[in-house]
Amino acid sequence: MKCLIAEDDFVSRELLHAYLKNHADCHMACDGLQAVEMFVDALDADEPYDLICMDIMMPGLSGRDAMKEIRQIEAEHGIGGLDGVKIIMTTALDDSKDIFGSFREGCEAYVVKPIHKAKLVAEIEKLGLLNPSL
Ligand SMILES: [Mg+2]
Repeated sequence: MKCLIAEDDFVSRELLHAYLKNHADCHMACDGLQAVEMFVDALDADEPYDLICMDIMMPGLSGRDAMKEIRQIEAEHGIGGLDGVKIIMTTALDDSKDIFGSFREGCEAYVVKPIHKAKLVAEIEKLGLLNPSL
């Protein structure tokens, strides 16, 4: 499984990496713009990401705006529905407006910070991305 961690906070980024490194080949983006660029590069290389953990609050391009761009790019490539990258939004805000908006814009799940490993792994399992033998 190939995973992109998009998170502007260094400590949160390293924490997610520590949680996921045994489950996925993890790459990191420090903001929304970089996340979109890395998503496009992976798509162009025919090695798309399976999962993106996307922080909502990031400078420049927010996680929600980055996701909207990614879903738009997928649509332009004829990628839709179950073939799209799975996106888990991460947020410090238990903010129903952001969360409902994110689902409308195409995320599959969200986790509220502080993120606990068991909760994150359970969400990834629900998306069918984890090999049970790992
Ligand atoms: Mg942030």
